[in-house]
Amino acid sequence: MIGLKSDREISLISEAGAIIGKVFERLEGEIRPGITTIELDRLAGQLIKSFGGRAAFLGYKDFPGKICASPNDVVVHGIPGDRKLEKGDIISLDVGVERGGYYADSAATFAVGNCSDAAARLMEATECSLYIGIDKARAGNRLSDIGNAIQTFIENKGFSVVRAFVGHGIGAELHEEPEIPNFGAAGRGPRLEPGMVLAIEPMVNEGTCDVEILEDGWTAVTGDGKLSAHFEHTILVTDKEPRILTKWQKKNR
Ligand code: MG
Ligand code: MG
Repeated sequence: MIGLKSDREISLISEAGAIIGKVFERLEGEIRPGITTIELDRLAGQLIKSFGGRAAFLGYKDFPGKICASPNDVVVHGIPGDRKLEKGDIISLDVGVERGGYYADSAATFAVGNCSDAAARLMEATECSLYIGIDKARAGNRLSDIGNAIQTFIENKGFSVVRAFVGHGIGAELHEEPEIPNFGAAGRGPRLEPGMVLAIEPMVNEGTCDVEILEDGWTAVTGDGKLSAHFEHTILVTDKEPRILTKWQKKNR
């Protein structure tokens, strides 16, 4: 069962989403060679608090960070630490916020200074696939239409979609039903209805789709050491266009 959110619930999720948007607008300006991922984590934590939210990832299944910071070959769930970002790196930041008992979740990958053309192509394709997936989140479509559109687009670009992690419903819990794979056949699963709130999050690898989990129990890296990118929005299915609840304005475009 996929729960349908009430207007009150949607407005609380939107408030959490707006906080995430403001956090990304600030974080983007701080991403530069020499900054450590724990500095980004601290800043994100301060911002989330100052905007009236709570960092949702901190303590979730004992996760030690306020955000996830996943450089280069780290797919997701990177633990913020002393690692200094270097020119040419890419860094995926994942931010979850709770406000008034409701959650929103969003991620984006950034270049640290100038990155390689290959890295730029990976990031662009991943971000584009997110919007292609969101465009399928329409009343009357089937759930698997989202993942099928993402996979088709990404594989046509010569990249692979990660199988080990998926998108999810979101609301009173950070992770709710349904799971939203970024792959698979179209036309399967429940029909989408207005009031469903979904976190759609393609994780795209330059090479193999396989991932490995490091000894810390969290950090997921690509099986071949090649790059990975991650973009995520929390969206609302409506009777018209899908509505993005974690929208923000990028500077570097
Ligand atoms: Mg996320
Ligand atoms: Mg998520």
